[in-house]
Amino acid sequence: MNYERIKEKLEILADAAKYDVSCSSSGSKRQNKNKGLGDSSGMGICHTHTEDGRCVSLLKILLTNVCIFDCAYCVTRKSNDIKRAAFTVQEVVDLTINFYRRNYIEGLFLSSGIFKSPDATMERLIRVAKKLREEENFNGYIHLKSIPGASDELMQEAGLYADRLSVNIEIPTKAGLKLLAPDKDHKDFIKPMKAVQNSIQIYKSEKKLIKNTPIYAPAGQSTQMIVGATGESDRDIMYSANFFYNKFQMKRVYYSGYIPVANDSRLPAIGTEVPMMRENRLYQTDWLLRFYGFNIQEILNETHQNLDMDIDPKLSWALRNLDQFPIDINKADKRMIARVPGIGMRSVGKIIRARRYRKLNWQHLKAIGISMNRSKYFMTCDSRDFETRDLTSSKIKNLIMLNSNSKYHKNFNNQLNLFS
Ligand code: SF4
Repeated sequence: MNYERIKEKLEILADAAKYDVSCSSSGSKRQNKNKGLGDSSGMGICHTHTEDGRCVSLLKILLTNVCIFDCAYCVTRKSNDIKRAAFTVQEVVDLTINFYRRNYIEGLFLSSGIFKSPDATMERLIRVAKKLREEENFNGYIHLKSIPGASDELMQEAGLYADRLSVNIEIPTKAGLKLLAPDKDHKDFIKPMKAVQNSIQIYKSEKKLIKNTPIYAPAGQSTQMIVGATGESDRDIMYSANFFYNKFQMKRVYYSGYIPVANDSRLPAIGTEVPMMRENRLYQTDWLLRFYGFNIQEILNETHQNLDMDIDPKLSWALRNLDQFPIDINKADKRMIARVPGIGMRSVGKIIRARRYRKLNWQHLKAIGISMNRSKYFMTCDSRDFETRDLTSSKIKNLIMLNSNSKYHKNFNNQLNLFS
């Protein structure tokens, strides 16, 4: 093996992969078998993140950064004058095993430029995963990026070796995709997502009847959207995410603030700030949809198309719906307690358990660890120390921001204004 050449390839192909944030590995249940290498079950894969929030727990590389497509937002696009490289299937297998044995990684995240055709690329990605599983007896985590436009048969095969599959939609709307990635068709993303979803369902129901049916993509599928490359509103982005969650039972949708990589009049200029706060607000909204029982229209709609950058989306919703507050914390149902700003699902559980034994007042709430900075404006309890009823939403917002840490004082609206 030519170590210098491998090292050079690794530098190029790991660097090219860093723009993909969809590498979380939660949810896989693959267990070590036949005394093989690795185990992605139980505590799962440990995640670490770089300072800019990107996941680095897996060996995260491209098979090649050669690409026949020319997506304007992508550093790998064919018109970009960069050093190109390609691993062989065996090189990726050897690297994964060596890194795993040295404890550098917990698994593999493998993506690729489209070097010849979607099928030829997908077929090679599958060969890596198949070799790892069948020849190296590797039971660690494998996340394969699915190539848009790959055939259903290949997608079906991929899920037999990978824990997670992802097809990155990248640009949230059809119009944006047409503008920035003219080689791609929206259908090319939907088709493999559908194929994966169908296979997950088929294998699951077969497993109920035949015990030794192989597991298929146990960590499900995910997708990623780039935020801020085009002028989509937060509403556009979250409605797309909502569609993918509902239609394809996505495990996760990832939001990745656009990092300018091209001097292109269609895109924010190089040096433009990466919209990290916007990315964060989208994740918070995503969380509200998946775990707090909100529906998308409550948070983003015709009159409220973009998220507030200075306050979180739950607080923003509550301030727009003051008629639903304050709630009586001793009587309100779980759903409404979860809607109180500053109260997370763990705190909801604590409140419900604690109020079985006594009527709760502010001291009781503090004693069980409920954060009061935001929540106290939206609830009443067995106490008269604090009255909220005559406060307006702007007054509440000001009071909260005055008592919040510095991140709430910054105004990030300039990120959205780029497209106004
Ligand atoms: S197909 Fe993928 S790798 Fe190729 S230019 Fe488009 S986004 Fe980049």
